[in-house]
Amino acid sequence: MMTKEQYIESLRKMKLNVWYMGEKIENPVDHPMIRPSLNSVAMTYELAEQPEYQEVMTAVSNLTGKRINRFCHLHQSTEDLINKVKMQRLCGQKTAACFQRCVGMDAFNAIYSTTYEIDQKHGTEYHKRFTEYLKYVQDNDLTIDGAMTDPKGDRSQGPSGQKDPDLYLHIVEVRPDGIVVRGAKAHQTGAVNSHEHLIMPTVAMKEEDKDYAVSFAIASDAPGITMIYGRQSCDTRKMEQYHDIDLGNRQFGGHEALVIFDDVFIPNERVFMCKEYDFAGMMVERFAGYHRQSYGGCKVGVGDVLIGAAALAADFNGVPKASHIKDKLIEMMHLNETLYSCGIACSCEGKQMAAGNYQIDLLLANVCKQNVTRLPYEIARLAEDIAGGLMVTMPSEADLRNKEIGHYVEKYLAGAPGVSTEDRMRILRLIENLTLGTAAVGYRTESMHGAGSPQAQRVMIARQGDLESKKKLAKNIANIK
Ligand code: SF4
Ligand code: FE
Repeated sequence: MMTKEQYIESLRKMKLNVWYMGEKIENPVDHPMIRPSLNSVAMTYELAEQPEYQEVMTAVSNLTGKRINRFCHLHQSTEDLINKVKMQRLCGQKTAACFQRCVGMDAFNAIYSTTYEIDQKHGTEYHKRFTEYLKYVQDNDLTIDGAMTDPKGDRSQGPSGQKDPDLYLHIVEVRPDGIVVRGAKAHQTGAVNSHEHLIMPTVAMKEEDKDYAVSFAIASDAPGITMIYGRQSCDTRKMEQYHDIDLGNRQFGGHEALVIFDDVFIPNERVFMCKEYDFAGMMVERFAGYHRQSYGGCKVGVGDVLIGAAALAADFNGVPKASHIKDKLIEMMHLNETLYSCGIACSCEGKQMAAGNYQIDLLLANVCKQNVTRLPYEIARLAEDIAGGLMVTMPSEADLRNKEIGHYVEKYLAGAPGVSTEDRMRILRLIENLTLGTAAVGYRTESMHGAGSPQAQRVMIARQGDLESKKKLAKNIANIK
């Protein structure tokens, strides 16, 4: 396994084509805007090195027999699925941000089982190729951007119905030695911090869409790839002189990028689906299922930090004993643990796939994510309630540090006795960061749309919920023949 330092160095060696705010970023690793998100990924390496987290953060590879980072693992049991969720909660607690590496892990497990089934039907050799690829990923302890979401253009049309054919990523040429692809993947979590992109189709497809039914892996710095780094609310605070307090979370963050593939060549050994449109839906459903389980871990870990911050804000305000405050904190914990329960439940009910790895219960994973589209919003609302308006009206760190007016900030922003004004500002800024700032991307809007928007889960719940069997139960009880 790589150490945290080795991971950072390995990325520094790559020649990534990254853009931010209209400028090409020559050194993304050390860029102040990007670095906090890289620190979050680095945490997945750092924790794996620590003996107390071995069980949760690492696993023994079924492919090589070697101990590997769990983020590279194919789940071999329901216990593995449970440990995955625990690992994500832990990483969320340590970063209070999206640590990005789960998309790769979820893609590995979905592609591994789907390629096995494609080969069974079509006599292809994708599973063997993918297994070899995954050994390479595991041996080198890589971070992979599991990429699904296409830009999608006109939502009333599928891939082949678009005016601009590139709005879904597609195959433009099949050569004897590989394929050439064009298109883009949007909202790519951790793209700039990843060694490779692992591409999957974004929707179920019909025969006319077959050029869009494609899965492959490619190094992030391959010719033809451009990454445009996404803006986040309050992001430029990172570029300010005084940003320690004002950022709320100076060290960690997450990111998404628009990743463009401009006629990129993919050698055959890296192609895992090539026009088998009848399996696009299966791959989508499985990846989405795993990632919906993931949110029952990562968002819970970040929620733990937010609840802790709200409780500290109450302490610093001198009202930890107020009964309504206590009740709000209880409610926040109840909601957060409800999400965790869903993550654990869909893991416990997991099943072995034909390929041998384990998959979560799809119905429960979708219920998990559907709850994630709601409960973090209520947790955030309660945190804002407890924090008070100062969270969004407070003067800056630059004011606090100013020789002429700093003493005013110090004096008038004081809270409970024995609490420094600076600490009070720090905790309020952390709540601001998680609910309205850079981390709100991961905790709020991503809770809504990440791993699929709410309606996508409702479609799956409808499909998996088996309404007919419930009708039968009612008929039996009501004695209807
Ligand atoms: Fe992992 Fe959560 Fe970020 Fe997805 S949103 S990559 S599950 S931390
Ligand atoms: Fe996500």
